[in-house]
Amino acid sequence: MADELIFKPVAELAALLDAKKISAVELTQAVVARTQAVEPQVRAFNSFDQADALAQAAASDARRSAGQGRGPLDGIPVGIKDVISVAGQPLTASSKMLANFVSPYDATVTEKLRNAGAVVWGRLNLDEFAMGSSTENSAFGATRNPWDLTRVPGGSSGGSAAALAAGEAIATLGSDTGGSIRQPAALCGVVGLKPTYGLVSRYGLIAFASSLDQIGPFARTVEDAAIVLGAIAGHDERDSTSFKTEIPDYRTELKQRNGPWRIGIPKEYFGAGLDPEVAAAVEKAIAFYRAQGCEIKQVSLPHTEHGVSVYYIIATAECSSNLSRYDGIRYGHRAKQAKDVVDLYFQSRAEGFGPEVKRRIILGTYVLSSGYYDAYYLRAQKVRTLIRQDFLNAFREVDVLLTPTSPTPAFKAGEKADPLAMYLCDIYTIGVNLAGLPGVSVPCGFSSGGLPIGLQLIGQPFKEAELLAIAHAYEQAHNWKDRHPTL
Ligand code: GLN
Repeated sequence: MADELIFKPVAELAALLDAKKISAVELTQAVVARTQAVEPQVRAFNSFDQADALAQAAASDARRSAGQGRGPLDGIPVGIKDVISVAGQPLTASSKMLANFVSPYDATVTEKLRNAGAVVWGRLNLDEFAMGSSTENSAFGATRNPWDLTRVPGGSSGGSAAALAAGEAIATLGSDTGGSIRQPAALCGVVGLKPTYGLVSRYGLIAFASSLDQIGPFARTVEDAAIVLGAIAGHDERDSTSFKTEIPDYRTELKQRNGPWRIGIPKEYFGAGLDPEVAAAVEKAIAFYRAQGCEIKQVSLPHTEHGVSVYYIIATAECSSNLSRYDGIRYGHRAKQAKDVVDLYFQSRAEGFGPEVKRRIILGTYVLSSGYYDAYYLRAQKVRTLIRQDFLNAFREVDVLLTPTSPTPAFKAGEKADPLAMYLCDIYTIGVNLAGLPGVSVPCGFSSGGLPIGLQLIGQPFKEAELLAIAHAYEQAHNWKDRHPTL
């Protein structure tokens, strides 16, 4: 029974909980037991607090018994990426810099999950400060892909994707600055949604690149992603970039929208570097939509080739500014033997940050420096506008864009030692962040070696309901979600 529970979607578990066929305590116990059993292999968590989770589950059962259930997430264990604050729990960003930091408050998304009754469960591993595509940049050890433990789960939210795929949570939250939800979702065979910039509050999220960062769900099904999104979306006074917009009932809308849709295929997303098995799986998905009566149209996003360069200028510039707060005085790691205050800054930062974080701070400081600002940062901002314009032009002709999520299935741990090779993992996901659009990765098959493949659907700003409906139509006609890794 326990094994069956951990792989069920939220929607089904909620029905079982409502019918009192299972309790939230039983469900949480099953998730805890699974986590204890597989964590030595997968290493998806930086920390977890089972006593706290079981207490939350007991409170959920008491609510349901009193007829005060709070809806489908009540009693569901949801894992949280370790850059999102959970009051009283460690918050490390997988960095030595924050190794001993405890969150003084809940992030808005955490608070909203609690209000929906979810059991807030565990702190999930990531690339240090969300910088990376493999979760190998964690100061506390790399997470492995549950489908093949010699491979990476993707990143930076690799813990969020791997924990879900391995049955160590029923849904999870991640953050996506350049692909960190969608790429690991694709590599681990689960659904991952990056919402429109501004739809979900970032209050309580450790900032990486503030003009790009968004929080979003990982889930077993599109319907589950809709349920979690509904719980966490909405305007928040404490995040001035959060947008005032009506939040629809995403879950109901899924079933009410039937297409046919106009689907754009950006030709620049099918070029060199795309693995043939990924290409074939995505082509099959395109054929599926065509057979459903959707209009399939080739479109062009002509500035795509500049995406990676623009992203690694803007993201590093913003990170150099955001990470200046870690000075050894106000937060986190403090060097023991500094001569004076300037030396304290130097030493604390030298000891606390890992190599990739340092590389980005140096790069970002350079592109913002007075002699180079116009040549790099300002120019990158202009190209960013062109990239956004490409998408908006395409959306005059189509409702949604369909692309691969990642150019390859999961690669071997240690395989991409060259930072540039790692940066190229993000070529299909970065444009969505630069343009502020919603994007979702949905499983669309397996490689001959048994590794999951994901397709990406890119929607128009704040049209998550439509985006999810299009993804749902594909998912319902396929059974990829019924396969699970054997551990
Ligand atoms: N892999 C990209 C990077 O290293 C994206 C990371 C993210 O989305 N947080 O910056």
